[in-house]
Amino acid sequence: MQTIALIAHDAKKDEMLDFVNNHKDLLKNFHLVATRTTGTLINKNYQLDVETMMSGPLGGDQQIGAMIATEKVDYVIFLRDPLTSQPHEPDINALLRICDVHNIPLATNRKSAHIILKYVSNKMD
Ligand code: PGA
Repeated sequence: MQTIALIAHDAKKDEMLDFVNNHKDLLKNFHLVATRTTGTLINKNYQLDVETMMSGPLGGDQQIGAMIATEKVDYVIFLRDPLTSQPHEPDINALLRICDVHNIPLATNRKSAHIILKYVSNKMD
């Protein structure tokens, strides 16, 4: 089973929930991993059995980065807030970088996330 990592900054959590709601039939075919608050919200609303890491500011981005480095993540959907500075900016940059190091598809906004899932669902047909 392939793994998708889901992360949303606070200003993007409603958007992530909406996105997940729109794609939940597809997402249930994947192992899902998320930073703590994002994953907990998804589990509470949609029972998708998301595996949760630490919260982003407490090291969750780094945990997901380590999973990417060890080839345990296939796609990353990271709805980040481009308008607010984050205390864990270095962790965020490291996560984006490690996706490029390992050639992992990374969506940082909803439209690109949609395109990734469209690609994934075509591959499953
Ligand atoms: P969270 O972490 O899902 O625990 O809020 C995401 C982040 O803010 O980086």
